[in-house]
Amino acid sequence: MSATFTIDNFAELEKRIERGTPALVHSALHREDGCSLDELAALLSPAAEEQLPLMAARSRALTAKRFGRITQIFAPLYLSSFCVNRCAYCGFAAGNAIPRRKLSVAEAVAEAMILKERGFNHILLVTGEAPAKAGVDYLEEVVRVLKNDFAAISIEVQPLETREYARLFAAGVTAVAIYQETYNRRVYDQVHLAGKKTDFAYRLDTPARAAAAGMREIGIGALLGLADWRCEGLALGMHLAWLRKHFWQTGFTVSFPRLRPAAGSFAPLVQVSERNLSQLIFALRIFDPDVGLILSTREEARFRDGMLGLGPTRYSAGSCTAPGGYSTGEHEGEQFAIGDHRPIDEVCHVIADRGLDPVCKDWDREFQIQ
Ligand code: SF4
Repeated sequence: MSATFTIDNFAELEKRIERGTPALVHSALHREDGCSLDELAALLSPAAEEQLPLMAARSRALTAKRFGRITQIFAPLYLSSFCVNRCAYCGFAAGNAIPRRKLSVAEAVAEAMILKERGFNHILLVTGEAPAKAGVDYLEEVVRVLKNDFAAISIEVQPLETREYARLFAAGVTAVAIYQETYNRRVYDQVHLAGKKTDFAYRLDTPARAAAAGMREIGIGALLGLADWRCEGLALGMHLAWLRKHFWQTGFTVSFPRLRPAAGSFAPLVQVSERNLSQLIFALRIFDPDVGLILSTREEARFRDGMLGLGPTRYSAGSCTAPGGYSTGEHEGEQFAIGDHRPIDEVCHVIADRGLDPVCKDWDREFQIQ
């Protein structure tokens, strides 16, 4: 693959957002099939803040038109908390004194079966980044054992090479989530203190490597609380547009994780309010009406319920972020504290109450062309 996505100058994004005008916001609000990057910049700008109710209404209408009443449900399954990187904001960072654990294949299956019994058909396998502990061989083995029990298996693990993603795709992985954390190179260097994750460019190129391997869906995202959220939103839009252009056959999702309390003493570098997060979600929906938007249990139940139908199309539920936590009920050793502790039944009940359909299965591997 020759083409590469780059973000050379984060400050340029700020200037582009500053050029946002009410007229650009107005034109974006009337688009049916997505808006331009200048219009996205305007939707993210202070000039759009007064129009937030109109943005919410437009985002709701586009979401209903493209996704119907469906809200997809999934759960993360943490396989390993070992990590060789030192990300200043993360409980799993090397050097943090937390109990660490890697599940055996049998333990992973036991955790997965608990989720299956609770009604989940889509799971996200998560590891810290420690290839010597949880490498491709291990992931492949876990996926091969689980693939007949789940309609979709996504992974959120260390960045891999295209040939490694191809192996995991053949084993049964359907999607890859890989978040840049921040598109601001200076801040990236400031918070990624050691390990392979210090390589900004390699991480930025990872979604393209996963797409090139044939994955059905790729998830990108920014960790909100590290750099200016408006610029992160514009960078996400640029990355998404680039990926769509080069991998038109792949589906894409965007996540908006806000920093949560975790082991260590890291405090967010910038504040991102729920109102800011709402504006970001509405802007991305208007920019790309077909992209899946994920709102995780990092957020409080009140906010998640309020956002139902307004833009997000996929919710995690009943999550535990420590390996083995579904079996033991223990939250010690979690990657971060979650904000919505409700079980899947309760989340599905609220979704149905809003006239939406909670969907635990939207794909079957019978459809997959290997
Ligand atoms: S964010 Fe990921 S790579 Fe960084 S310390 Fe946590 S688990 Fe490791």
